[in-house]
Amino acid sequence: MKINVLFASFEALPFYKTGGLADVVGALPQFLDHRYFTTKIVLPFLRPIREKVGQNVRKRAHLYVRNGILNEEADVYSLKEGKTEVFFIADQLYLDRDSAYGYGDDAARFAFFCAAVREMMVEMDYYPDILHTHDYHTAPLAALCQYSPLERLRRIKHIFTIHNLSFQGSYDKTVLFELLDLPAEDYANGKLRYNDSCNFLKLGVICADAVTTVSDSYAKEICTPQQGEGMDMILRWRQEDLYGIRNGIDTSFFDPSSSELPCPYDRKTYKKAKPFNKLSLQKELGLKKDASALLCAAVTRLSGQKGIDLILGGAERMLKKGAQLAVLGSGESRYEYALRLLEREYPGQVSFTCAYDEALAHRIYAGADLYLMPSLYEPCGLSQMIAMRYGTLPFVRETGGLKDTVEPFNEYTLSGTGFSFGPYDQRDFDRVFDYAWDQYTWHPENWEKLIENAMAYEVSFREPARQYAALYRKVLKS
Ligand code: ADP
Repeated sequence: MKINVLFASFEALPFYKTGGLADVVGALPQFLDHRYFTTKIVLPFLRPIREKVGQNVRKRAHLYVRNGILNEEADVYSLKEGKTEVFFIADQLYLDRDSAYGYGDDAARFAFFCAAVREMMVEMDYYPDILHTHDYHTAPLAALCQYSPLERLRRIKHIFTIHNLSFQGSYDKTVLFELLDLPAEDYANGKLRYNDSCNFLKLGVICADAVTTVSDSYAKEICTPQQGEGMDMILRWRQEDLYGIRNGIDTSFFDPSSSELPCPYDRKTYKKAKPFNKLSLQKELGLKKDASALLCAAVTRLSGQKGIDLILGGAERMLKKGAQLAVLGSGESRYEYALRLLEREYPGQVSFTCAYDEALAHRIYAGADLYLMPSLYEPCGLSQMIAMRYGTLPFVRETGGLKDTVEPFNEYTLSGTGFSFGPYDQRDFDRVFDYAWDQYTWHPENWEKLIENAMAYEVSFREPARQYAALYRKVLKS
């Protein structure tokens, strides 16, 4: 008998993406071994998804979603994506929006989606063995199933994955009773309470059969008061059921040999192709065409988490040495503003594209030399792995998944896949940047060795999928 796994998330590739969460939920169901697993995904039918899939979906069910004060009808549509069936929950009031997050009624929207997924399982008589939820938006599903009077819902096992502990969904306590319809006595006794409020992430942590996060180091870090974001005590309490499974990337989506690049390449042909992609990228971004300039890049959300302050702090030094900087991303306006100023101050040397652009991201990964990711914290990070796949050396801070996936260069053994530094400190950033610069400028043979090591590093989902499969089996036996 195959094991049925349902993934519930607010984003997944190829339908809708704001960050790494979408890469993971899109790829993991495809990478599980379908001789033993049947995988399905459920997503909200957001407007961009509706526009993308058009008429390709099939209507599967009509739902009456009633939970607490929620009282709304919804439809379930589906389509087949690779080896996975994808369900979409569509309604007028909560999910028919331009983006997944950032609305005043987010608590109601997330609660509605969770209640609708539960209703979908009942209405379609589809009860997965495992319900795998991702981040706080879908975290209440474990509680909604466990507190249900229906035994078939209560029998479902739950895995809850934390992709980023900083986002928790902390709301007024009334959300717990009015929107989730969870019992007041378990609020009073503390089980469902978090600092006199309702916290969606806590619901996932305490109600799931196992909690995972996206790297080993981050699993340890979030159990400490320094990096536990106020949740460390609860996570320590669940430490026996807390697993770190690093993310992978979809290697067919992020593929340097794909024809979308000006000059596709692989490990055998990168030497000729990368300079060509670099010159083409410099032209596209208005940078000075110079194959020898060290082209540093970042494709990122512009948030404090991503170490943008260190990049900005080190920029002048990098640029004065003759390096170039290309940044693609959007986010906090202070960073957008600072990058615009830098671009104006260093024409031909700095390029800032304030957008979300997947195709350009691929050309940047292919054309750059050094990928800057000096994050303050990083649950796993996909960008450094994507960069390695494209032979662009990651320059990272040793935290979370960055520490687990980037091996710093050792010039004696010629091992390593990139450059890294420890403390979140400008001097350490600058020192290691100088070292990377020296390797690039004076030791091109070392740089080549690093590129070869990086491109050979296993970044696919094969190993993580194997670990998730083992965990699903373990949880089903418990
Ligand atoms: P996070 O999920 O914290 O944002 P990750 O490194 O785990 O960071 O994943 C980020 C993903 O989003 C990568 O695939 C990266 O290439 C992509 N990405 C981020 N910003 C942009 C952008 N502006 N345009 C295109 N892709 C982007």
